[in-house]
Amino acid sequence: MEKEGMYMDFYVTGTLIWYYYICKRQVWLLAHGMEADQEDENIRIGRLIGETSYEREKKEIDIATGKFDVMRREGENLVVGEIKKSSRFVESAGKQLLFYLYQLKTMGIEAKGELLIPEERKKFLFTLDEESEKEIKKAIKEIEKIVFSPLPPPAVKNKYCGRCAYAEFCWA
Ligand code: SF4
Repeated sequence: MEKEGMYMDFYVTGTLIWYYYICKRQVWLLAHGMEADQEDENIRIGRLIGETSYEREKKEIDIATGKFDVMRREGENLVVGEIKKSSRFVESAGKQLLFYLYQLKTMGIEAKGELLIPEERKKFLFTLDEESEKEIKKAIKEIEKIVFSPLPPPAVKNKYCGRCAYAEFCWA
């Protein structure tokens, strides 16, 4: 049985979307259980939550593919998002948020996204339009392709390598 974003017991998660926009090799390494730093909360994948839940009373939404906060309600719509310390990973964080908006949409929940960076007094707003939905669907397909490939993509030097937990593995 196969459906979008899922092959047997594998789901594309928000975490994998995050890393997809940082380094595709890292997506493969993470998905194959090569956890370089167990303490890093971003480096934990493969937790499959059996139930998809959406509880009105809770401020946090927990779905099979990730967790995020409810910021507020705007009429019938939800505004979901996250608070970050810096805008260093804003591209990844934004794509991750769009992924969650897409996941919510497939459950019949209309939502907007908001990324807040209080220390920089910045706020980024996200809506899932036709173009961004297309991009997220493409990313999901490409992540599946990467993960189901027998070997990781080759290491390509990028601006994140210096602080990457896999740097030694890739470049030693
Ligand atoms: S060290 Fe660089 S190439 Fe290797 S996984 Fe990390 S970011 Fe990717």
